[in-house]
Amino acid sequence: MKALAVFPARRAVQVVDHPEPAITSPTGVRLRMLEVGICGTDREIASFQYGTPPPGSEYLVIGHESLGEVVEAGSAVRRVKPGDLVVTMVRRPCPHAECLPCRQGRQDFCSTGDFTERGIKGAHGFATEFVVDDESYMNVVPGALRDVAVLAEPLTIAEKAITQVWQVQSRLPWVAPPGSAGASAHRAVVLGAGPVGLLGAMALVRAGFATTVYSRASGPLDKAGLVASFGASYVAAETATVEQLAERVGNIDLVYEATGAARVSFRMMEVLGSNAVFVFTGVPGRKAPIELDADLIMRNLVLNNQVVFGTVNASRADYEAAIRDLAAFRERWPAALQRLITARHPLGGATQVLLAGPGGIKDVIAIA
Ligand SMILES: [Zn+2]
Ligand SMILES: [Zn+2]
Repeated sequence: MKALAVFPARRAVQVVDHPEPAITSPTGVRLRMLEVGICGTDREIASFQYGTPPPGSEYLVIGHESLGEVVEAGSAVRRVKPGDLVVTMVRRPCPHAECLPCRQGRQDFCSTGDFTERGIKGAHGFATEFVVDDESYMNVVPGALRDVAVLAEPLTIAEKAITQVWQVQSRLPWVAPPGSAGASAHRAVVLGAGPVGLLGAMALVRAGFATTVYSRASGPLDKAGLVASFGASYVAAETATVEQLAERVGNIDLVYEATGAARVSFRMMEVLGSNAVFVFTGVPGRKAPIELDADLIMRNLVLNNQVVFGTVNASRADYEAAIRDLAAFRERWPAALQRLITARHPLGGATQVLLAGPGGIKDVIAIA
């Protein structure tokens, strides 16, 4: 069968003939892959900055944002059945007995770093025709979400972040949840308007946050119009400094960073509000060091009871939340949700899409 593969040693990206997988355990499930989304991580793998083939393989089959259809289930499979649409989780636990997160099924918090990730680190991914995995990593998607379910995996980043934000803010017993009468701590700023930022902004609006997306205008896309269409505000970084942004927003209770850009992120941290939370999701590339006003940031962190955390990967509960949220987005903002998917490409044309860099919001490989 065909698969999209990256060969790090000889710096090549190409469609290869890859052996078809078979079910080898009673809880194994075979999927026909329908769609795979392409993100910045895939583009970094395709430019050989990142990505590790499985032991003994010359190449890595890429793709981690996926949608598949169950075509065969092992004898002990209970969670899924043939015909179900599923989104498969990406990270697999490390083997170490002392890694409590992995031993409790929370490999998204793995503390040894020896986890594997399908399509990224030490395990083949989903940009291929058939995949076999264990049912415990699969999340069923309603058939009505067939055309947007490939967005579930990138949405899990926001779901895990929002869950943790509320764990942190449970320290403020007077806070009324966003959307409720007397809502407080409900003003959010999203940094960046790529897929992670836009999906995060949708999730925050749905959770009741008054949400402002702050981003550099890039390309011909009308991001301001798109953001307004799902009830958030848009401020172009070219037209407003972070101080002006903060004046417009009021007390910034939450920053959801989705740019991977350190300079603008730490500038934002300088205007973070009292009792606020700043969440990092981006992984910056290696660049020259930046200057920042560390005294000011440290003073604000202390005097304003601020919390800063980073978050990566997601748990099963975050996948379930993402699938529920996609259904809600589809109900409330069907056109905006569709617009997040820029184009669908055949597997044979995926190499050019990977190497071309992001032209729109989300490029998708349509496999079947
Ligand atoms: Zn991704
Ligand atoms: Zn671990």
